[in-house]
Amino acid sequence: MAKKTVKETKESAQNISVDQPIAEAEPPALEIPNAITVASLAEMMQIGSIDLIKQLMRLGHMYTINDVLDYELAADVAESFGFDVYEPEEETHDATSIVPSTDVDDSKDLVNRPPVVTILGHVDHGKTTILDAIRKTKVVDAEAGGITQHIGAYQVKHNDKLITFLDTPGHEAFTAMRVRGAQVTDIAVLVVAADDGLMPQTQEAIDHITAAGVPMLVCINKMDKPEADPEKIKRQLSERDLLVEDWGGDIISVPVSATKQDGIPDLLENLQLLAEMAELKGNPQKLASGVVVEARLDKRRGPVATALIQTGTLKVGDHITIRDLRGRVKAMLNDQGFKIDQAGPSTPVEILGISGLPEAGDIFNVAPDEKTAKRMVLDYQQTAAHQSTTLEDAYTRIESGLTKYMNLIIKTDVQGSVDAVLNMLNSLNDEQSKIKIIRASAGGITENDVMLASASDAIIIGFNSELQPGASALASQEGIDIRTYKVIYDLTDDVAKALHGLLEPVFKDVIEGEAAVRETFEIGRKGTIAGFYVNKGKITRECTIHVIRNGEHIHEGAIISLKHFKNDVKEVSNGNEGGVLINGFNEFEEGDILEAHRSEQVSKS
Ligand code: GDP
Repeated sequence: MAKKTVKETKESAQNISVDQPIAEAEPPALEIPNAITVASLAEMMQIGSIDLIKQLMRLGHMYTINDVLDYELAADVAESFGFDVYEPEEETHDATSIVPSTDVDDSKDLVNRPPVVTILGHVDHGKTTILDAIRKTKVVDAEAGGITQHIGAYQVKHNDKLITFLDTPGHEAFTAMRVRGAQVTDIAVLVVAADDGLMPQTQEAIDHITAAGVPMLVCINKMDKPEADPEKIKRQLSERDLLVEDWGGDIISVPVSATKQDGIPDLLENLQLLAEMAELKGNPQKLASGVVVEARLDKRRGPVATALIQTGTLKVGDHITIRDLRGRVKAMLNDQGFKIDQAGPSTPVEILGISGLPEAGDIFNVAPDEKTAKRMVLDYQQTAAHQSTTLEDAYTRIESGLTKYMNLIIKTDVQGSVDAVLNMLNSLNDEQSKIKIIRASAGGITENDVMLASASDAIIIGFNSELQPGASALASQEGIDIRTYKVIYDLTDDVAKALHGLLEPVFKDVIEGEAAVRETFEIGRKGTIAGFYVNKGKITRECTIHVIRNGEHIHEGAIISLKHFKNDVKEVSNGNEGGVLINGFNEFEEGDILEAHRSEQVSKS
């Protein structure tokens, strides 16, 4: 039976209540929402859930009672029971209340919003255990039997006020979001194990928190251990100019034992204190925008993204755009798996209905209607040219007032040379006031350094420091300049030149090959492989692939996997076929052109 439009069915629907038994003489009409659970649909049709599940099976779909059906399927199955169905009205926001998320907030619309908290620290210092302890003791709806699900973020209630926690501890997630331009964290909790003290990743976490400029709370964990020595930690922090309150500073430190669940209320209390000081406000009176925290492909439900709403109110039915992805919010679930219709600032929600798989850190926006959503995607595609951070454009950026500082990450072979490099940079007289050191430490240049550089628009300077596997590929993907030196004078000379805008570029972009997409293969949750034929040059594993459609550049991403037949290969050359999986892109179409780009060194560094 063909589905009827709202107009066609509205009239007949008016006099029919869904409470009436379906044996009534008039054909029953159902208004089916964009998403509905099997149980709710059965109730609406006044039939048993089992009968509905059986009918779904007959139609070739395996669903259980709590699964969510989209409109199309719900309508099909309802029609197979003899119902007339119609969709709800198009717009979910009444036309007068459509305020774009980018509009300046009217102060009367601003309300307090919960703080968003991220937990960082060295491995094994207890980040996950703390997150679990908080969740266990403080689940918002514990009485109602709600079970928090790991959706990437959750909320707890303390003193009747909410706190939102990002559930992916560690600075990888924190930085990944900043790299993509999203700042979601309001307060960072630095976890240090009382029996261990400050470790390398603690320092890295401190660098990330400082670079992000968010307030920090130090949580001294494992206080139950006999060898716990919180004073040692406070002293170590003071050596890094981080003074906790009882050392005369203003950093709050809270001792806890995550395994014994001691000190958790105190931790939450202090987080609320910091939140109050930060006066966090949000405006629920506009279209929502926010950040994707996590995303996965669900076999039945399609792409599912956990998003944190930063401003506005997100509603079921909203037209949403994420980068070049578009969709309508079919259904929303909260962190306890309950269906909700709308969500305001600082709320984490699972969203169903997006056309593809976004990445953590992607920003989402709501458009007032489908036409605007389409335009927003087009605008994105046209301006998506990658921003890069190189030593030579540091000058332009400072001169044009875009930035005040040239941010540097210094990596050296041994600790002793860190000081030597810093001293030399300090001797650049008035120039040094334009330099900001984001990190200076001994060791190889790692992917983590590149992430930090990308998040803080910094340049990486290596002095006798080796490039670790992966760092170089990530740097070229993120457009980060890594310069390595063996002679300290060359290093400072280049930095001085860069500050005067005299530096020659070291790398230039080279197109190494070109291929045409011939077919596509979906490989489940991992994404879509483009089967291609190389027309020119070659495609190598290290390249960044630019996807061109009808002459338009629509995506740029690193290669996740490159295959020739079934084998993983380093390159596929002219005249051969291959398959490629590209980071952040699954919407290949036959005829798309894949351009393989690589940066090539043009002068000695
Ligand atoms: P993460 O890597 O920072 O997430 O650390 P985990 O939460 O996985 O904890 C690492 C180990 O430390 C686990 O074996 C935990 O059981 C243990 N641990 C965490 N918190 C405490 C604590 O407060 N006291 C003690 N004794 N052990 C803890």
